[in-house]
Amino acid sequence: MTSPGTTRRPVPAGTGAPRRARVAALLVLAGVAVSCAAWPGAPGTEPPEDGPSARATVAPAGGEPEARVVAVSVDGLTPEAIEVLGRRGAPAISFLLDRGAGTLDARTAVEQTVTLPNHVGMITGRRIDRDEGGHGVTWNDDVVGPVVPPDEDGRALASVFTVVAGAGGSTALFSGKTKFAIFERTWPDAVDRSVVAAPIEVLARRASRDVATGRRTFTFLHLADPDLAGHRSGWMSAPYLRAVRRADRALGRVLAVLRADADLRATTTVVLTADHGGAGRSHEDPALASSYTVPFVVWGPGVPRGDLYDLAPGLQDPGDARPGYGDPPPVRNCDLADVATTLLGLGLVPGSDCTAATRMEDLLTGGRGA
Ligand SMILES: [Zn+2]
Repeated sequence: MTSPGTTRRPVPAGTGAPRRARVAALLVLAGVAVSCAAWPGAPGTEPPEDGPSARATVAPAGGEPEARVVAVSVDGLTPEAIEVLGRRGAPAISFLLDRGAGTLDARTAVEQTVTLPNHVGMITGRRIDRDEGGHGVTWNDDVVGPVVPPDEDGRALASVFTVVAGAGGSTALFSGKTKFAIFERTWPDAVDRSVVAAPIEVLARRASRDVATGRRTFTFLHLADPDLAGHRSGWMSAPYLRAVRRADRALGRVLAVLRADADLRATTTVVLTADHGGAGRSHEDPALASSYTVPFVVWGPGVPRGDLYDLAPGLQDPGDARPGYGDPPPVRNCDLADVATTLLGLGLVPGSDCTAATRMEDLLTGGRGA
């Protein structure tokens, strides 16, 4: 584990050199142009033509607070469960949706709707298909590949972990499945704490205590129970809905920490999504709406409340459709990486190709950059 402020070993090439010892609040100065050349060797990070032409993050002079992101993925969370449980059955998720910018009509990766490929997308900001610049993790177990495949030069891909670590921030991962050890194996210098395969109550306790310390710039919390119950008893079954309630309580513990601490509350943004939905006892068919429809919500200081598609007109509400990567973009779970790094004022993850974050930038910077 690395203490905040300690000097890090070098992060993989292509992730940008450390720019300051402390990840400060995001402050984008109009008129101060820092081009994408700040992230050398980062194909795909150019803003879209209708996106911002310049992006600059500076260490604020007046002692601005640190920015933090807590990302939460609820494995197998179908939006239908949120609607059925409502505010009484899922108060924490409902709180985020009520207070944040969110949608129940986000999308997964196009190629696959299974856990590990979609989570590697969340962490790298990439699609799956390696031939198209994706991360290439097509397997969903602990056996096939121990790490995310490196690039053609043998270097680890960039990720939200390496971007945060490269800027001197601290990261933590809490997961309910052993296969998530792939992240610390892939980025051992950038994942400062990794807890995998713990029961959900243990994860909730450890994650909320860790968040309470304020030492993490980026925390990733993965809650596995709904997926496990879905496979066992069926999506939307009583055991599945009980598992979603457990996940909601785990999220609620983290939110309670933030709401109880004014400093954390003022500096921390929560991003919630899911790797896939499900129906019957599976979610493997990526062509089914039940598989590819997931929630995506951002709640934090300065983030407006409302429907994400209304708030970010550069995004396209997909309705019931399953848009491809070349279509007008919905928000996808793979947008989590760039959403997090944008919230932290760290630009985009080099090599990321999920594009919604650039179309949400005003929303994510909450007017601080205006
Ligand atoms: Zn599953």
